[in-house]
Amino acid sequence: MNRMLTHARRILLLAACFLLAPAGSAVEARVGSVVHYSFFDGWPSEHYALDGTQRFLPQGQRLRCDSSGLVRYRSEHLRYTVRVNPAFAQRLAAFDRLLEARGREAYGRAPRRLVQRGAYNCRSARGRRGRISEHAFGNALDFQGLDFPRLPRGAAAPAGMPRRLRRGFSLRIADHWGPRRTRDAYHARFLHALAEQLRGHTEIFRGIVGPPQRRHRNHLHLDAAPWHYAMFAYEVE
Ligand SMILES: [Zn+2]
Repeated sequence: MNRMLTHARRILLLAACFLLAPAGSAVEARVGSVVHYSFFDGWPSEHYALDGTQRFLPQGQRLRCDSSGLVRYRSEHLRYTVRVNPAFAQRLAAFDRLLEARGREAYGRAPRRLVQRGAYNCRSARGRRGRISEHAFGNALDFQGLDFPRLPRGAAAPAGMPRRLRRGFSLRIADHWGPRRTRDAYHARFLHALAEQLRGHTEIFRGIVGPPQRRHRNHLHLDAAPWHYAMFAYEVE
């Protein structure tokens, strides 16, 4: 069993190097004031239920998904429901807790709603023929943003939080990752710090794709693929 797993890992490593990482290792580049991550970022240390699942389609074979084992994950506090693998549902619960904690730190209250554009979806990876999308296993979430309620009356706002954010507001990757208005810089810092924090927590997500990647300008793709990778960039003030 162990030998089989090692073998599977080796195949995955080769495949990951080929598909994800011409450089073969973590890439963090700071060009001027831009922090940029791309490609393969190392192996996650913990075991995960979907690690041994085949990620590549033999040539000529059509993608078929087995959705029978998926569950409906309903967030306890963040008002969203998605269809995912049970192992991934546990990771979403950890993500929710992180968002609530980060919300309290930065905005003085937890968000009320998580906005997403899909979890389970039977399809190939975008732009990579033959590679099955993590969405096809119910092992990914496309995260668009959060809605915050108003700060409760009498509650103290965190130091540095703009006054107008005492009202309820929407936080969106599309609007606030690379903000056009300086007044949105506080939101941008929150989102960049969140992505950085997730990058360091492979027990929550192992793969992150975000702006300015193609088709990822308005969401963060978050998954638990067998390899650790990060593909996003942002400008530092
Ligand atoms: Zn996605």
